[in-house]
Amino acid sequence: MLRASVDWGRCRSCEPCDARLACKRRAVVKADPDEPAWVAHDRCSGCGDCLAACSHAAIDRLTSSGKPFLQVQNAQ
Ligand code: SF4
Ligand code: SF4
Repeated sequence: MLRASVDWGRCRSCEPCDARLACKRRAVVKADPDEPAWVAHDRCSGCGDCLAACSHAAIDRLTSSGKPFLQVQNAQ
């Protein structure tokens, strides 16, 4: 099952976080304006809407083994 994950090396801590606004399940969390976003995996369906919404490409979808989904797909 895929789950979104924010790469804190790429997240710019935008305010507002467009990825958070795009998530219908309220799974993207940003507790403080200066903090990066993170994903509550228990609420994430893996739909990918947040990936498209984040203008800094800071979100990946990870497979259950923790590898980025696109990397796994490209290797096949
Ligand atoms: S996840 Fe994307 S949109 Fe949200 S704060 Fe980080 S860089 Fe900005
Ligand atoms: S993949 Fe979908 S459910 Fe998960 S955090 Fe992103 S928008 Fe929300």
